[in-house]
Amino acid sequence: MKEIQLHDKKFVPYISKEQIAHAVKKLAREIADNTKEPVVFVVVLKGSYIFAADLAKHYNKEAVFEFYRLKSYEGTETTGKVEILIDIDTKFIKNKNVVVLEDIIDTGNTLEKILEELHKKQPASLKIATLFFKPDAYNKNYPIDFIGMKIPNKFIVGYGLDYDEIGRNLPEIYKLKEPRMIDFVLFGPPGAGKGTQAQILKDKLGLTYIATGDLFRHHIKNQTELGKKAKTYIDRGDLVPDEITIDMIKEIVADPEARGFIFDGFPRTVKQAEVLDELMAEKGLIIDALLSINVPEEKLIKRLLERGKTSGRSDDNEKTIKHRLDLYHSKTEPVKDYYKAQGKFHEIDGVGSIEEVNQRLLNVISNIKLRDE
Ligand code: AMP
Repeated sequence: MKEIQLHDKKFVPYISKEQIAHAVKKLAREIADNTKEPVVFVVVLKGSYIFAADLAKHYNKEAVFEFYRLKSYEGTETTGKVEILIDIDTKFIKNKNVVVLEDIIDTGNTLEKILEELHKKQPASLKIATLFFKPDAYNKNYPIDFIGMKIPNKFIVGYGLDYDEIGRNLPEIYKLKEPRMIDFVLFGPPGAGKGTQAQILKDKLGLTYIATGDLFRHHIKNQTELGKKAKTYIDRGDLVPDEITIDMIKEIVADPEARGFIFDGFPRTVKQAEVLDELMAEKGLIIDALLSINVPEEKLIKRLLERGKTSGRSDDNEKTIKHRLDLYHSKTEPVKDYYKAQGKFHEIDGVGSIEEVNQRLLNVISNIKLRDE
């Protein structure tokens, strides 16, 4: 991944030139179609200068351009205070159809100040257009009339936006590089306590928990197509075919915001392990470890019979349980070798209290060296 350094921080590519160009053209069209003419564009400097210039090239109706210069950011945190450094003469706004051009709206503090000031100048109409909008950060009530692209609450630079004044001339958008999070597989036979441990680890480490068994049960409950396909296999204690399982997991892993995964119940075959490596690589990530929880077979059977009484799972009789354990040995255990070959295999004793086993897992996790992205 092409990463860059601005001052003390690292940034990685986030929104491409093509995506930006598409959003700018769309905005020019929407504004032209939905605003009374002639329009006075109020460009909010400095951040909007490139956006405004590109939008102007695609805006094919009469328009006047005015410039406000405001300042709100210091470093990567918004200060909450907004200062006007260059004002606009009232005569250019009064009785005009005004459209504010913002590069980005996050908390809405700058916008609030602009609207307050512009209202004093009595425009005939006042609309807001922004190239980027952060819905999760926005804490004002003014409706935004034209939005180029909604983005999550991340600090971005490029295409006019800066980090302490540099980075504005980057032709695409970069985001702050986030610290690497661990991604691992929690492994072991049915009944080893993977689900219980994963829930605790997820909360303690702030990770994203993915349990294919839970996902299948959710699909079955909601009677989705996928649920219908998976149900017969699950009822018999068989593995759901790889294609179905992989399709389901693909969608989740592909989410660009999702990272720091605990996989539980996946991969259950070597094929699934290979695909998981590919899916992670596509995101610039890597599986750091396979943590295998060991529990003797007699204990597993006892635990599974107990769980079957209440969990609504299919493993409530000894025959299905034996079948699932057989499948674990024949199809799933070879996954261990796949990770051993990569030097990522770790074994944990799964006998003991939930807290004891959890502490063992945490000890192993704290010693895993994360590969840098
Ligand atoms: P679990 O909740 O992990 O015990 O999974 C319950 C059932 O879901 C299993 O017995 C399989 O039928 C199915 N299943 C879960 N994960 C997978 C997977 N990775 N590959 C194939 N089948 C799976």
